[in-house]
Amino acid sequence: MKKTILLLMCGICIRVFAQGYTTPAIPRDAEIEAKVEKTLSKMSLDEKIGQMLELNLDLMGKMTPEKPVLDRKKVMVAMRQFGRPEKEVETFLKKSDKEIIDQLSPYNIDIYKDGTMMTWQLNETMLDTLISKYKVGSILNAPGTRAATIDQWQKWISIIQKKSMKYIGIPDIYGLDHNHGVTYTQGGTLFPQPINLGASFNVELARNMARVTAYESRAGNCPWVYNPVLDLGRDPRWSRIWESFGEDAIVNARMAEAEVNGYQGDDPNHMGKFNVATSVKHYMAYGAPFSGKDRTPAYVSPAMLREKYFEPFRAAIRAGAMTIMVNSGSINGVPVHASYEYLTKWLKQDLNWDGMIVTDWADINNLYTREKVAKDKKDAIRIAINAGIDMSMDPYSVDFCILLKELVEEGKVSMERIDDASRRIIRLKYRLGLFDQPNTGGKEYSKFGCEEFALQSLHAAEESEVLLKNEKSILPLKKGAKILLTGPNANQMRCLNGGWSYTWQGSRAEDLAERYNTIYEALCNKYGKENIILEQGVTYNENGAYYDENTPEIGKAVSAAAAADVIIACIGENSYCETPGNLTDLWLSENQRNLVKELHKTGKPIILILNEGRPRLIADIEPLATAIVHIFLPGNYGADALANLLSGDANFSAKMPYTYPREINSLANYDYKVSEEVGTMAGAYNYDAKVSLQWPFGYGLSYTEFAYSNLRVDKKNFTADDILTVSLEVTNKGNVTGKEAILLYSSDLVASIVPDNKRLRAFQKKELSPGASETVVFKLPAKDLAFVGADGRWTLEEGDFILKVGKETVNIHCDKTKIWNTPNM
Ligand code: BGC
Repeated sequence: MKKTILLLMCGICIRVFAQGYTTPAIPRDAEIEAKVEKTLSKMSLDEKIGQMLELNLDLMGKMTPEKPVLDRKKVMVAMRQFGRPEKEVETFLKKSDKEIIDQLSPYNIDIYKDGTMMTWQLNETMLDTLISKYKVGSILNAPGTRAATIDQWQKWISIIQKKSMKYIGIPDIYGLDHNHGVTYTQGGTLFPQPINLGASFNVELARNMARVTAYESRAGNCPWVYNPVLDLGRDPRWSRIWESFGEDAIVNARMAEAEVNGYQGDDPNHMGKFNVATSVKHYMAYGAPFSGKDRTPAYVSPAMLREKYFEPFRAAIRAGAMTIMVNSGSINGVPVHASYEYLTKWLKQDLNWDGMIVTDWADINNLYTREKVAKDKKDAIRIAINAGIDMSMDPYSVDFCILLKELVEEGKVSMERIDDASRRIIRLKYRLGLFDQPNTGGKEYSKFGCEEFALQSLHAAEESEVLLKNEKSILPLKKGAKILLTGPNANQMRCLNGGWSYTWQGSRAEDLAERYNTIYEALCNKYGKENIILEQGVTYNENGAYYDENTPEIGKAVSAAAAADVIIACIGENSYCETPGNLTDLWLSENQRNLVKELHKTGKPIILILNEGRPRLIADIEPLATAIVHIFLPGNYGADALANLLSGDANFSAKMPYTYPREINSLANYDYKVSEEVGTMAGAYNYDAKVSLQWPFGYGLSYTEFAYSNLRVDKKNFTADDILTVSLEVTNKGNVTGKEAILLYSSDLVASIVPDNKRLRAFQKKELSPGASETVVFKLPAKDLAFVGADGRWTLEEGDFILKVGKETVNIHCDKTKIWNTPNM
């Protein structure tokens, strides 16, 4: 018997080794493994299945209004903001007050007349049932998706832990979307959104954001955060592009590694009380919806999938990420939640990873309700669990427990699969130290929301805002000038923070961000209130969907311009998140473009501030601006950072993390295929197909000028096992100190499948004082120049390559073709 087991184990090892990495992504700790096995051996089937379910906190509590009177306008606003179609809203509003309240009260949304006191109360009886009867192992989310106080989190999570320990002897793992800081905890630190961190090209800022967020999450007793997002923001139409670090796989991969380390600390088996487990998401190609709309199918070539969309996840998992959340949609017709290939093979086997896979919101249900690959809920659970899902985020139902048990009893899901899934969950809880210390918080967390963290957020914002244009050196803007401040984004925190900021949509949260400065307030502080004329011209309709605007008052802004020397126009988007952020037209709103056009007629110079979650087309107004700054979603200190940058108290150093398109029919990324550019051909027809863009990936100006020289490589000829040492001189030729992001690209000149125009391979950020020079060195493994061939195998082909940094280039030659037989190199 023993021999058989041994042979079986060897068989498993050989399979794992032949398919991927030989060393585990997270090294095993014998002591922890022994504890996991001991706990597992005592668990019943019900307990194992219960651990595999994650519920929404809203299910076990109620937002209770005191003397409620329904406000139908609030119902309308909420429904629109949650993306419900206009027809549905109309029909719904025909119901009686009672019907509406009954139907909406489980969702804990504020739908009552202003002034109604609302208190959310945990229903302990319900919690008792859910934990004692269904043995539920995880709970997520903030009541009504609105930030709670740190005391509330303390109280709620410790009650949950007390009951979990009492009824099942296993702690709960609580999860929150603390995406750019502690989204759902009042008074914590919010950093710039990930797209800003991508623009900074500084991985230390990402590491630091994660460290602070881990600390502040644990201060509120929460050990698990659903971040970083590694979906690659490659499609400007998509509503979640700002949640990513931008379009490039390498930028996302390096940022992911830094954040995993920042959140989890250096020892994944013993995450301390200041660390949290991450859930990297949404695995994978979620950011490539064919329709441009959130949660719709992706069609991606095998090479694109492996080389680009998979790469940041591979990097994060190999860096020790504890959990991964799955793409709600499908890839080439296969819903990812149903894919054994992507979940079990690519992640667990090929990466030799013993972490845990969680679904996204109700996504097992979506296998039958939306994706139509399962006939009912039970069938969907069978497919997903057999594909490799370990935990189902099924927010409002315990059916999962009942149906999965039936499936096991019917032999449709094996006991081995249940053991594997629950083992991964229990291991995670041990690694987090939850068995020994289910609760954290209190006196040890006195730095929660402190000045030091605020300053770090401010500096991250300064490094993340991109200067795109600066004609006649209008910036830095001298003090004393009279400024007309205009545009819908000029005086609202919601726009600076974006979604996942105190509330899911980032809306109706101004009260929680009152102590931070809007652009108007920050400019008043910097330039003096007497010098700022605020006349917005266009404003958002806070009672509508994110894109709704009030009737414009452009004339008022134009009149106000008469008294100003310069116009600062803050344009862009209001906050949104996920599917409610879907879009029908990529052009910036007509009102906003008209505002800029009319103001231009006054002859006063215009500085455009782009404050938006995705690149909205502005080709017709771009030429009208003297200067342009893209601030993305820079967070609570984003306006202070902007004021520092505009005035020259800080220097710009960010670069574009994505390609900014100019034309609706040219939505290319920087690494487009060379054959996407088809010039005018000989003959009768004009086949002109140019990749046209507003600003390229990697573009960004500074108040100083950096010169590159002497790009060299230690080996002009190389083979797959070589490490290339690439170096170059960078000099600050200007008069002020500045930071420079140095981007190393390669181009494969001839390849057996159409090569990309160029690919980013590595990047670094350096600070140089005026006149200073530094030699920057990159160690580039030659195998990084490989691509995935037509047969799906990694291939490095004999032939010529060019390495590039700025305008500096160096030619190199690969002497020998190598083809890998493993899925990862
Ligand atoms: C989102 C995830 C999020 C989850 C939990 C989903 O709708 O897609 O990004 O982590 O909800 O709130």
